[in-house]
Amino acid sequence: MTAPLHPDTVAVHAGRSDLEDLGVHALPIDLSTMNPLPDIERGGDSYEAMATGGRPPADGSMVYARLWNPTVARFEEALAELEHAEASVAFASGMAAMTAVILAHGPAAGKPHVIAVRPLYGGTDHLLGSGLLGVETTYCHSDEVAASIRPDTGLIVLETPANPTLDIADIAAVVAQAGDVPVIVDNTFATPVLQNPVDLGAAMSLHSATKYLGGHGDVIAGVVACSEQTAEALRRVRAVTGGLLHPLGAYLLHRGLTTLPVRMRAQQETARRIVQWLIDRPEVAEVFYPGLDGDPRGILERQMRGTGAMIAMRMQGGYAAASAVTNATSLFTHAVSLGGVDSLIQHPAALTHRPVPAEARPGADVLRLSIGLENADDLIADLAQAFAAVPQGADAGAAALEEELHSVG
Ligand SMILES: *Cc1c(COP(=O)(O)O)cnc(C)c1O
Repeated sequence: MTAPLHPDTVAVHAGRSDLEDLGVHALPIDLSTMNPLPDIERGGDSYEAMATGGRPPADGSMVYARLWNPTVARFEEALAELEHAEASVAFASGMAAMTAVILAHGPAAGKPHVIAVRPLYGGTDHLLGSGLLGVETTYCHSDEVAASIRPDTGLIVLETPANPTLDIADIAAVVAQAGDVPVIVDNTFATPVLQNPVDLGAAMSLHSATKYLGGHGDVIAGVVACSEQTAEALRRVRAVTGGLLHPLGAYLLHRGLTTLPVRMRAQQETARRIVQWLIDRPEVAEVFYPGLDGDPRGILERQMRGTGAMIAMRMQGGYAAASAVTNATSLFTHAVSLGGVDSLIQHPAALTHRPVPAEARPGADVLRLSIGLENADDLIADLAQAFAAVPQGADAGAAALEEELHSVG
């Protein structure tokens, strides 16, 4: 009996066990949109199996790429292994993945009530509140989940660390409150390198694979790790609604997984140095980073293996200062998204969290940093020169921004 492999090794080898038999070394890419049918009967049986969320039968056909694609399935196998889950299902984007999860557990299961723990990524908050999917959403704090459950509650949505202010919720405690109701954890910020929600009792772990899993800013994708039974429900939604991940994207994501643990550790080390530097800066009123309050409830110790590479900060000079800094950085690209090899800076209230109602939206003085693989001293020097551009005096821009955001949603 050999010991279980370490995650670093899994990241390099997962989803590749048949490559030697195939006689290839790099991951094969299958771009077929349709596949030959052995005969009508077995073709029809295959169609039936996959349209209801199953896998292609051994003696059948993959039929059509909206039902199954082997390059995508390979990436799904690898991600499931990293997430300690039976299966995973990949989608065209993180939001397509979240949509499938909500559809499968809410209206399709006759349970149209969703509980969402804030804060959440702006797009998720927007989707849940939009009414587009026919669900009613109760937003609450992670301690109020039990009190918010109704007979028609089909899903509990949790994000930890949460975008953008890195709020930490106790996954096991939310699962304990949930009873029979499945909990989905958006694990985008932590990645499977730092956190495995399924080990803590969550029914699903969701990623915007666009971020750390891809890691290079060139793929938009989403993936949900879960049980095979839940995967069937999600594949059924995917087959019917068509929110597919393209095989070229799946190839890039699968390749990206091999360096994920190394990237995550290096980016985290740099982020920690930057946090230490930011704490002492007079331009910064508050730094948001997991563990800065010393982990009083022991949550980080119980559920995470690291604190990650995302940072948020509240600027002393309010919106005017935040605006000046985003305009003045040169190594930090002023752009949304996160988790790639290059560092990014952005203003959540105006961009990623724009659709969130005012009472739950981050302040106009908050900036979010995604730390990449550049040298820490170079990144600190870039922030220092950007802080030097902060104007002194009244924060004139905040009121105007508040006014403008009033009309979004
Ligand atoms: C970006 C993001 C999403 C949405 O993913 P897309 O791939 O952009 O659709 C969901 N959750 C979190 C935490 C994100 O950062």
